Amino acid sequence: MSRKTRVRFAPSPTGPLHMGGVRTALYNYLFAKQRGGDFIIRIEDTDSQRFVPGAEKYIIEALNWCGIVPDEGVDAAGNVVETVSERHPHAPYRQSQRKPIYRQYAEQLVENGYAYYAFDTAEELGAKRAEMEAAGQTFIYGQTTRMGLRNSLAMDEAEVKELLETRTDWTIRFKMPENRVVKMDDLIRGHVEVNTSTLDDKVLWKRADELPTYHLANIVDDHLMEITEVIRGEEWLPSLPLHYLLYEAFGWTDTQPRFAHLSLLLKPDGKGKLSKRDGDRLGFPVFPLQWVNSEGEVSRGYREDGYFPEAFVNLLAMLGWNPGTEQELFSLEELVQAFSLERVIKSGARFNADKAKWYNKEYLRKKSVGELTDLYMPVLEAKGISATREYVEKVVALIQERATFVADFWDIASYLFVAPTEFVEKDAAKFWKEENYTLALKAADFIMAFDGEFTPEGLGQPLEEYIRSNEWPMGKVMNCLRLALVGASSGLGIADIVTLIGKEEFARRIEYIKSKLC
Ligand code: GLU
Repeated sequence: MSRKTRVRFAPSPTGPLHMGGVRTALYNYLFAKQRGGDFIIRIEDTDSQRFVPGAEKYIIEALNWCGIVPDEGVDAAGNVVETVSERHPHAPYRQSQRKPIYRQYAEQLVENGYAYYAFDTAEELGAKRAEMEAAGQTFIYGQTTRMGLRNSLAMDEAEVKELLETRTDWTIRFKMPENRVVKMDDLIRGHVEVNTSTLDDKVLWKRADELPTYHLANIVDDHLMEITEVIRGEEWLPSLPLHYLLYEAFGWTDTQPRFAHLSLLLKPDGKGKLSKRDGDRLGFPVFPLQWVNSEGEVSRGYREDGYFPEAFVNLLAMLGWNPGTEQELFSLEELVQAFSLERVIKSGARFNADKAKWYNKEYLRKKSVGELTDLYMPVLEAKGISATREYVEKVVALIQERATFVADFWDIASYLFVAPTEFVEKDAAKFWKEENYTLALKAADFIMAFDGEFTPEGLGQPLEEYIRSNEWPMGKVMNCLRLALVGASSGLGIADIVTLIGKEEFARRIEYIKSKLC
């Protein structure tokens, strides 16, 4: 019988979630939903030294913003679940709260000869490392060195027993088999083989804090939570042989999950991993939401930069996956239908900031005027602008096509709310010449006297007709009017602006430019 698809996103709360991490969560989510399976969140917080307060909350909020909603592990209020219920049978979902579970598994491996107790202190290991490095060798705790170190493989039983009882700083290490070829399959990379001779004996469990390390906790929990596929970043590929061997040592190979390692997100030039520094340098966020660290340093976020979550999800999906068609715009539901691990690329995916903006522009174009007005009203309010909703809707309808972000609305057409007080010098020098502006002022009189339908369509044609019939230079006259209305010679159509701001305001602006420039 085939098992129900169950995948998990297992972040460590060591800081804000990088956009690559969001992509990992997204691919897991898409994979699960397409198969009618479960998407689980598990917080891997056993490394207390790397724990960052607020990071867990940030991660959940970021996923929520993206619409990547877990079936298990987080409740409706957005809290990581701590108690078992029908919906969340594997609680708690925070590994630090699962602490009592892991020791027995580590001990089981020792009993069966797959692991051993190690008593070396940090100083002893440091000395050993220094000694070997002085001899031009690198130290690894493993098959070539373990018999010369202080562990239960090299010591007699009585001593081991005593140290286990009297000391609280020992660890349990995995006994990496010697000279074995581990044969692995990756759903993206295909078949991979690694010889164990270069692999070290990783610590699995620590008596000092009675906590497992990542490797043990990860395998035990994936097993207990009945995970069917592990989809994660390629930085975990080097750990895969150990994970295979752990499944084998526990006797869990029958239900061992299948693995898929995702390639990195690369810098725009393709050279290396996309980092926060690249974002700062080139002007784009690498985090879904803004993050303020303990020093008060602010890292920008897609949300705060004005990206729509749908656009962010869409652009992330396309960084490393392609549908095999020309289609670029996908809603989350469409991604669920179209996604496949087979079409995830093996090589790294280059980030392209212009393309990211393109996605947002496309989503902005698709939004309704009403929705964009909802978003723009508070922006205006914050600027101290009072305008009726009806007016703002008209503005939005007029400039929607030109904007990439809602914040652009202001830059594109702030003059629809506030009159210019200054005029772009070079535009004024170019167009505001007596031979032009005397004609423009006559055109302004025409507009003031116009008694037809006062709409862009109603006014636009007759105004042009008037200028043309007088054989005036159309561009120059229009640019003089635009200078009066906008403060520059570029901007929206004259009839669009005038019919929005109304004759009274139009007249005021004409008077103002006359007083300033004539
Ligand atoms: N806690 C690991 C991380 O932060 C999870 C790796 C995995 O998915 O196995 O990436």
